[in-house]
Amino acid sequence: MSGTLHVVSVPIGNADDITLRALRVLRTAHLVAAEDTRSTSALLAHHGLSVRLVALHDHNEREQVDHLVSRLQRGELIALVSEAGTPLVNDPGFRLVRACIDAGIDIDVVPGACAAVAALTGAGLPVDRWLYAGFFPRETGARARLADELGGLRATLIFYESPQRLGATLEWLATAWPTREVCVARNLTKQHEQWLRGPATEVRAALGDEDRGEVVILVAPPTEAPLVQDADAFARDLLARGLDPRAARDALAEATGLSRRDAYRKVLDLLGR
Ligand code: SAM
Repeated sequence: MSGTLHVVSVPIGNADDITLRALRVLRTAHLVAAEDTRSTSALLAHHGLSVRLVALHDHNEREQVDHLVSRLQRGELIALVSEAGTPLVNDPGFRLVRACIDAGIDIDVVPGACAAVAALTGAGLPVDRWLYAGFFPRETGARARLADELGGLRATLIFYESPQRLGATLEWLATAWPTREVCVARNLTKQHEQWLRGPATEVRAALGDEDRGEVVILVAPPTEAPLVQDADAFARDLLARGLDPRAARDALAEATGLSRRDAYRKVLDLLGR
């Protein structure tokens, strides 16, 4: 009989945020496949456990999968853990889970901490519909595509972001979605946990030059009613603030409910083009 792959969530900062079942599974597993064996050893030692570990990270997952699947086929119990939070969520493990499913091996999830969900539950933004969109894209083209694809979605958007890029990303949000509430959740469950809420410009100002810690960014869905009634005056103001035509188009469409095409026409008219 084949074994089981346990997909085990671990803390995102506070070492005590681990479930009793997770500890039991980690204690009884024949092997723990860990993204970062050092941090996992430290976590296990904190809970008085000492287990056999093998590294499974982005650079070796392809090779490790066959080895782990054959051990599972021999009946072993293997636990998969990330450096922090829930495996597979912007972390390794997808290939392994997929391979186990294809090989008919049982998957057992042991749920727990996940930064995206933790941030969502404290942000104060709608939770009835939300979309986790991974790390915020870095390139200008990818950001424009993001605005196109997700801009009109009536759902709270959740992104991971590096602390060094947070300031620039908030500036982008202030331009693309100026009227939406944003929340930055920093260092969740850690000593310097911080929540910043408000329009992106205010959150950017409150952040100052802080560029440390781990952050989740959440963006409120677009409001039903357009916030700006006088589209011409708003567009003139955007151009006076130095926005380029495409950025002004996006901000205008967002605030007035105009289609991006009509918003662009208005911007170009005002520029006399
Ligand atoms: N698997 C993890 C999870 O379940 O949340 C996510 C791993 S991903 C590689 C790391 C990113 O998650 C960080 O860059 C940050 O955006 C977010 N993150 C992880 N821990 C966090 C924390 N304590 N506070 C805020 N964000 C965190």
